[in-house]
Amino acid sequence: MEFSWSQDENKFRLEVREFLQKNWDASQLPEGPNVDNDAAKKYVREFKRKLAEKGWLTMSWPKEYGGQDASYVQQMIFREEGAIVDAPIGGGGEQILAPAIMLNGTEEQKKEYLVPMTKGEVLWSQGYSEPGAGSDLASLQTRAVKDGDEYIINGQKVWNGAHRGDMIHTLVRTDPDAPKHRGISYIMIDLSAKGVTINPLWHMNGLGRFNEVFFEDVKVPLSSRVGEENRGWYIAVTSLDFERSGIHLIIGIQGVYEKLIHFLKSKLASKIGIDNDRLKKIARKLTDTKLELEVARLLSYRITSMQSAGLVPNYEASMAKCMGSELGQFHARRAINALGLYGQLLKDSKYSVLNGDIPNSYMYTVSRTIAGGTSEIQRNIIATRGLGLPRS
Ligand SMILES: Cc1cc2nc3c(=O)[nH]c(=O)nc-3n(C[C@H](O)[C@H](O)[C@H](O)COP(=O)(O)OP(=O)(O)OC[C@H]3O[C@@H](n4cnc5c(N)ncnc54)[C@H](O)[C@@H]3O)c2cc1C
Repeated sequence: MEFSWSQDENKFRLEVREFLQKNWDASQLPEGPNVDNDAAKKYVREFKRKLAEKGWLTMSWPKEYGGQDASYVQQMIFREEGAIVDAPIGGGGEQILAPAIMLNGTEEQKKEYLVPMTKGEVLWSQGYSEPGAGSDLASLQTRAVKDGDEYIINGQKVWNGAHRGDMIHTLVRTDPDAPKHRGISYIMIDLSAKGVTINPLWHMNGLGRFNEVFFEDVKVPLSSRVGEENRGWYIAVTSLDFERSGIHLIIGIQGVYEKLIHFLKSKLASKIGIDNDRLKKIARKLTDTKLELEVARLLSYRITSMQSAGLVPNYEASMAKCMGSELGQFHARRAINALGLYGQLLKDSKYSVLNGDIPNSYMYTVSRTIAGGTSEIQRNIIATRGLGLPRS
């Protein structure tokens, strides 16, 4: 077993780090990349274009679709470095839809949709969940009815990033009489189409935005369907494995963690009453984060190694997702406790520390064990597919 980076991989990591230092300035977006304002959207779009110019946005794709045929290891290094500085390096299009198109799409779809993604020209959001269909996604009700060479779509999707997207890739019911998993198709919809309405929903930290999206008699060509009609469920299941595989989701708290450690070692910590005795107690707790972070990282590396061997990560992706999202919450609690009352102050208080990142992360990480499939559902997958045991 070779358990180290090659010279080229180390060199690439440094190149990515330097690029990010030069081109991604988190202070330009003090409220994070998910905040909903025009300046943030513009900054993120420009950054993605720069990534596209480097060929990094879709580096592991085949050259024929505008990728670089880069290894999964290189891609993982890129995403790991991006996660550490909280840069928006992943996207629903590149990571979730693109593999679905590559595996199931027509040659025309590959040309029409993949190439603009490589250039960062068209941004995508993922529209799977509905008010009555989250964990039990297959019970979704959004309906697509065939009418000549079009589908007419009616229904509602929720919790998606449609405000940042130009297009949405979604699941719709095309056969209401078939068993629920067998009557679903995978469709791509232009968000500027007539009959699409996007309403905002706000994350409890007040910064992140989700949306509910309504479709009223929205017409899309039949050629917007990925794969065969009524086989969309099986395509989506594979897409979800890709969604859960991203290392940036799994070690996303590393940046906040490192900032906290840096702060605790600085003179500023003593100014808020963290003396040596208190620091010893805090250190013990924060070593737990260090341990868990390394386990989560290794689970992510395992996924990369599977992808490199041509395998599609399955329950392994659920393990990494579970570990990474729960670690985010554990660490946020430890960090709040470490800073005492100061740990609860948001950045608008003159007494806040670390720009209010800690309470922000405390609120934000609550949603991590829900997004992309809840921890309970991930544990069901690990039980059934990984251990051969029944689901709860
Ligand atoms: C930050 C964030 C981003 C998101 N982004 C997107 C997006 O871009 N696109 C999109 O389509 N969706 C998105 N979602 C939606 C997300 O996928 C769903 O919220 C999630 O799948 C859970 O579905 P639900 O909210 O309907 O909860 P429910 O499915 O109603 O679950 C409620 C509770 O019951 C538990 N539960 C349900 N079924 C079982 C079971 N069989 N066994 C044990 N426990 C069970 C769940 O674990 C949960 O605790 C996002 C959600 C969040 C929080």
